[in-house]
Amino acid sequence: MAVGQEIVCFCSTCKIDLRHVIVAHKSGNSGPIAKVKCNTCGKIHAHRANPGERATIAAKRANRPAREKAVVIPIEVEWREQLSARENSKAIDYAPSGDFKVGDVVDHPTFGQGVVRTVKEGNKFEVIFQRDVKTLVHRLKEI
Ligand SMILES: [Zn+2]
Repeated sequence: MAVGQEIVCFCSTCKIDLRHVIVAHKSGNSGPIAKVKCNTCGKIHAHRANPGERATIAAKRANRPAREKAVVIPIEVEWREQLSARENSKAIDYAPSGDFKVGDVVDHPTFGQGVVRTVKEGNKFEVIFQRDVKTLVHRLKEI
């Protein structure tokens, strides 16, 4: 590519791909094309990336928000998956006297429905609820 050569690129005035004459390079005569002159409108403007490249950049931008959303609320996403995987399981009303195991669906009066994620030593276990993972107690004798 050299000054005076013709290329087809996007014209910022005509808004379509048109034939342009290269009028300047960024560095010397071999660097990237800096300025082009439109054969149709005669305007000299900065050389733009071709429409294909711009579409790729736009697509990348469009994909980003969905991924960010998933990162912001991972608990809710996991909770939804856990619950939908056990939609046929009967929810057990939470009570400190109960005995829960991993995978049990728990119905808590304050936090709603959750799924037991881990059972710890002693009388504690973790339940994933819609907004948070809570540590609850079980295996306590009723007084
Ligand atoms: Zn033009």
